[in-house]
Amino acid sequence: MRLGIGDTTKPITPSILKGLNYGVERLGHVETYRGYGDEQGDIRLKASLVKYYSNIGVNIYSSEIFISDGAKPDCANIQSIFSLENVVAIQDPAYPVYVDTNVIAGRTGQFNKEEGQYEGLVYMPCTEENNFFPDVPSRQIDLIYLCSPNNPTGAVATREQLKNFIDYARGIKAIIIFDAAYSFFILNHDLPKSIYEIDGAKECSIEINSFSKIAGFTGVRLGWTVVPKDIICENSDLGKINTIWNRRQCTFFNGASNIAQEGGLAALTEEGQEECKELVDYYMENARIIREGLKSIWLVVYGGENAPYIWMKTPNNMRSWEFFDKLLNETHVVGTPGIGFGARGEGYFRLSAFGHRENIKEAIESIKNNLRL
Ligand code: PLP
Repeated sequence: MRLGIGDTTKPITPSILKGLNYGVERLGHVETYRGYGDEQGDIRLKASLVKYYSNIGVNIYSSEIFISDGAKPDCANIQSIFSLENVVAIQDPAYPVYVDTNVIAGRTGQFNKEEGQYEGLVYMPCTEENNFFPDVPSRQIDLIYLCSPNNPTGAVATREQLKNFIDYARGIKAIIIFDAAYSFFILNHDLPKSIYEIDGAKECSIEINSFSKIAGFTGVRLGWTVVPKDIICENSDLGKINTIWNRRQCTFFNGASNIAQEGGLAALTEEGQEECKELVDYYMENARIIREGLKSIWLVVYGGENAPYIWMKTPNNMRSWEFFDKLLNETHVVGTPGIGFGARGEGYFRLSAFGHRENIKEAIESIKNNLRL
């Protein structure tokens, strides 16, 4: 029973499917056929996103939005517009793309096997003590990656916590790269879905988001990045970061698929949003079943309340891979060892709520009945 991968399993919902079909159909007629689109994305989709942001009280201009083929490429590529001399801070544990792309770019030193970390990177520990959200670094940083809701810990930053980072970044003209790929899973209205809900964020933050997990687009491929014109960073004029990202995208990317963008447009309609909410509710009920099930046998679990991931402390301080083998052998359940997300993930285990309900229930029953604690 696979509770390992963060891939969606529910089919695409009717009105979004209709949008995708419309995109396909248009390609079959000379009157409606379209080839290359704007590299920055369809203006209608950007307008829908402007509206989405305004509904959560955030004022974003269409020219600040760049539609892409997903959050992963944007998380990976964004570092390329910054100097190789930049000092990078990353949450530990975190989605591995932030570390690995900076390693590939040549911004780090050697991998220290003993510490399980790369030299030259600043790791921000996310532990039980800080509720899995880091404190502001004590040294000068240029690029700060934050992910909320976090993969793998499921922790969500509060307004206060984000404000601290924003104040810090503005103070030293650093940039926050904010990955909000799971923002639609935030059920608690007091928690921010976008970093721009916090004052001052537009002066220092780039936000990356995705249609993957809300609309089931992990295979369709569609995301977006917001690069505000107000960003002020070291050695850069106002608006420059937006211009450079535009130049980067126009040079390396020919725009997201027009079929996918029709699907995205449909997902942002009122009907589409209701369907997305149903998908989110379904996965979040899975998360509840996993959480409650594990807690009922006295396992220590975090996350899963405003995020589709459950971050579990391994019993008896077992190492993550040791627990992986034990869980597989005794219960036939597969999860993800925490160490895969960074050194501070050792001793933890991630379970994903993106599976089918029956499979999740069977997995939890098997853990309850067969795991020898
Ligand atoms: N960001 C985080 C934190 C993720 O966990 C994932 C996928 O699992 C992504 C980005 C990738 O999203 P996309 O499918 O849009 O590339």
